[in-house]
Amino acid sequence: GLEGETDEDGELMPRPPVVTVMGHVDHGKTSLLDALRRTDVAAREAGGITQHIGAYQVQMKNGERITFLDTPGHEAFTAMRARGAGVTDMVVLVVAADDGVMPQTVEAIHHAKAAGVPLIVAINKIDKDGVNPDRVRNELLQHEIVVEELGGDTQEIQVSATKGIGLDKLAEAISLQAEVLELRANPDRMGEGTVIESKLDRGRGPVATVLVQRGTLRTGDNVVAGAEWGRVRALVNDKGQQVKEAGPSVPVEVLGLSGVPSAGEPLVVVEDESRAREISEFRQRKVREKAAAALTAGRGSLTDMLARIQAGEQKEVAVVIKADVQGSSEAITVTLGKLGNDEVKVRVLHSGVGQITESDVQLAKASNAILVGFNVRATTQAREMANRDGVDIRYYSIIYEVADDVEKMVKGKLAPIHREKFIGYAQILQVFEVKRLGNIAGCRVTEGVVKRGCGFRLLRAGVVIHQGELATLRRFKDDVKEVTSGYECGMSFKNYNDIRVDDQIECFEVETVAAE
Ligand code: GDP
Repeated sequence: GLEGETDEDGELMPRPPVVTVMGHVDHGKTSLLDALRRTDVAAREAGGITQHIGAYQVQMKNGERITFLDTPGHEAFTAMRARGAGVTDMVVLVVAADDGVMPQTVEAIHHAKAAGVPLIVAINKIDKDGVNPDRVRNELLQHEIVVEELGGDTQEIQVSATKGIGLDKLAEAISLQAEVLELRANPDRMGEGTVIESKLDRGRGPVATVLVQRGTLRTGDNVVAGAEWGRVRALVNDKGQQVKEAGPSVPVEVLGLSGVPSAGEPLVVVEDESRAREISEFRQRKVREKAAAALTAGRGSLTDMLARIQAGEQKEVAVVIKADVQGSSEAITVTLGKLGNDEVKVRVLHSGVGQITESDVQLAKASNAILVGFNVRATTQAREMANRDGVDIRYYSIIYEVADDVEKMVKGKLAPIHREKFIGYAQILQVFEVKRLGNIAGCRVTEGVVKRGCGFRLLRAGVVIHQGELATLRRFKDDVKEVTSGYECGMSFKNYNDIRVDDQIECFEVETVAAE
């Protein structure tokens, strides 16, 4: 049935581990997944690989199985966790020996840590000349990943995805880790799992790839998946074959649903069709209510978090930090690390350099964290996602203010909602050199309004590179007080000339809104 019922110890059977491969772009995730897939004993018997369904099982020579999630990148991993679906048992972190630890490697480490799943390091491309695994090991050390070779407890395997070196060893390492985790599930109950991918197929209708986690899913079962429902018309495995059933850790395509559920949503078997409809209708209603509530409440996550802290239910303030330079992100991490008290701790889940991306928003959402932008802004997509998901993004340019706000959160007191109010943005379309006046930016106001007397910042690729006052604000040849969205204008900064096409100008007012 639905969540809740526990299994007796005797009903639990070993199940295959579910593995996500993560790493920096071009370090060989795809190549490694492909190579591992080719080692599958069962696939050879089935006459090759015919299907791509977002997850697949590899059967090793000794008969053991491993399930790999083949969903793209860290986003999918975190998106699922954000929905409360802990589908992954462990992460294989791919690090190219010739490139070492890179930003997305660090991001992957933080994602794995936040999810609380163990990590196995795969040092890839060891076939290349002159590569030295020691370099990778030492770089990982800086991120508190200590491999066995350096006396730690993280398994490390050297591989070459393209030359097929070390694949058996990697599979063994995964099995060993799985043994330590004692992965077990009861196959003799109604199936439960998580949607890991879904689509609307022209010929087949809604198709959800589901990873079964408990029990067994069978054709003919009545299921609810997210807010959709249906009777399982067919199950298709990762080799494109129709199957009658799928047990724990088995990925299958499920056909017969009323609509397309989202990745990360749970799928459960229920006793009959009327129950399936009933739950589906209830969930559809909840989805609508939630959407409506999100529109009115806006920043739900912060208010909720502070309420939980006040009630003594939350013991931690989690923070994700993005800054313009490494020095700032480190300084903030250190400063915040010293905050907290006996009741509530502060935990920095991730700190990095650059714009706030969708991946950051997802990490913050999955962990109920506050997202801090220090002299950087969110990408448009990240901002939209944060608004939609109720993630609190806070922008700062003074470290003391970050610390001050987090300190207030630790005490369960609502920090000022905004220290600054963004009132407008303008995009620079052209730059004119004017004698005696310096560089004038020909802009279009893209959001809100820009006003004389406000604070102004120049953003380049989402990073704050200058803050100051305006020298001119003009429409055609006339000085004006303000320019609203949709209109073009000329702007220049006082005593500052380094402005370029594609830069953005941000206009803000400082106003401290008191706590509720
Ligand atoms: P992804 O972005 O992490 O999925 O990386 P890909 O799997 O697409 O690999 C990026 C590039 O590295 C491709 O050109 C691969 O052929 C190459 N590559 C991947 N693994 C190896 C390896 O073990 N040795 C060498 N020499 N090249 C590799």
